[in-house]
Amino acid sequence: MSKLPNVGTSIFTIMSQMAAENNAINLSQGFPNFPVDFRLTEILSKLASENVHQYTPMSGLPSLLEKIAILTKQSYQRTVSPKGEILITAGATEGIFATIQALVKAGEEVIILDPSYDCYEAPILLSNAKPIRVSLNSDFTPNWEKINNVVNKKTKLIIINNPHNPTGKTWSVDDFLQLEKLVDSYPNLLVLSDEVYEYITFEKKHISINERSKLYERSIVISSFGKSLHITGWKVGYVIAPVNIMIEIKKVHQFLVFSVSSIAQHAINEYLDIVDFNSIRTFYQEKRTLFRNLMSETKLELLPCEGTYFQVASYAAISDETDIDFTKRLVTEFGVATIPISTFYANGDDHKCIRFCFAKDDKTLVQAAERLLKL
Ligand code: PMP
Ligand code: GLN
Repeated sequence: MSKLPNVGTSIFTIMSQMAAENNAINLSQGFPNFPVDFRLTEILSKLASENVHQYTPMSGLPSLLEKIAILTKQSYQRTVSPKGEILITAGATEGIFATIQALVKAGEEVIILDPSYDCYEAPILLSNAKPIRVSLNSDFTPNWEKINNVVNKKTKLIIINNPHNPTGKTWSVDDFLQLEKLVDSYPNLLVLSDEVYEYITFEKKHISINERSKLYERSIVISSFGKSLHITGWKVGYVIAPVNIMIEIKKVHQFLVFSVSSIAQHAINEYLDIVDFNSIRTFYQEKRTLFRNLMSETKLELLPCEGTYFQVASYAAISDETDIDFTKRLVTEFGVATIPISTFYANGDDHKCIRFCFAKDDKTLVQAAERLLKL
């Protein structure tokens, strides 16, 4: 008997496999295809012969914890205690899993806003709790009427994802005011804020929970160096939460992984002294502009993209296939792999939209657009 009967292979694995089998350009799974900063690889090779190969403390390398506290202060003016309020995790995925397992009890409810990234539901089900999926508005802003209607005394957590995968939508101050009101009315409600794309926003500056002092005591903020430093495969992320909540999250982390890759933590620790997080924003803004310009020549209709390295496009004007069939045809006939957006909805809502990852070198983006011109 399966504990997760409805969980299958992730769409990211499926589409990346299809891309490989069809020798297609892979704009599906979200990861960069360009080399990482040579300064980071130099740090890594220097470290290889140093004493960095044994366990770090359970919560993370102390100097890296301190640098994350400094980064949080610089980015959001929030003071966090490196020892008590930060935990280094095996990617954001482990941070999210450990948080949900630590905080959510059987019978409690957790709100997920659809379309949503795929790693939230399984840990809720493993806690014997109930995921409550609430659709975002058609412009992908939170629908506060619907959210307010489903919240009740059993609601333990609301999961928010800002900037948003897959749509690139970012939260407004108004949305945070609504969230603060909600949290005020429900004393047991906590917020899990997935901000892995926090440094990838364009025209509008990212608003973090780390800037909303009214929410600090009730929130868990999740980030990932995978996104911010173009190293998704390193799987190093971190969690920021108040001490009383963090104590519980660490109990799970301790027995899930105990600690995270030490050489990766050491390398990131040194790299943080030289890397400029603002350059990441400019870098992806240029990629977004290039990709949107190239794609505007095709028959696909591009939705707005305020952040992340994903671009959603509608194909409604050219086909009435399901998005799953359409993405299959794109890979097999056109040699471009993308992600069908219906897979981000609990009930598989098909809006005739697909997601492209534009974290790719320019040549790849140009080639993909050339192939899609034939649509
Ligand atoms: N949250 C979101 C919204 C993501 O897109 C991703 C993955 N890329 C994650 C969490 C997981 O991040 P990580 O690879 O650091 O585990
Ligand atoms: N977050 C990545 C995406 O949205 C996928 C990561 C994974 O495959 N687990 O494409």
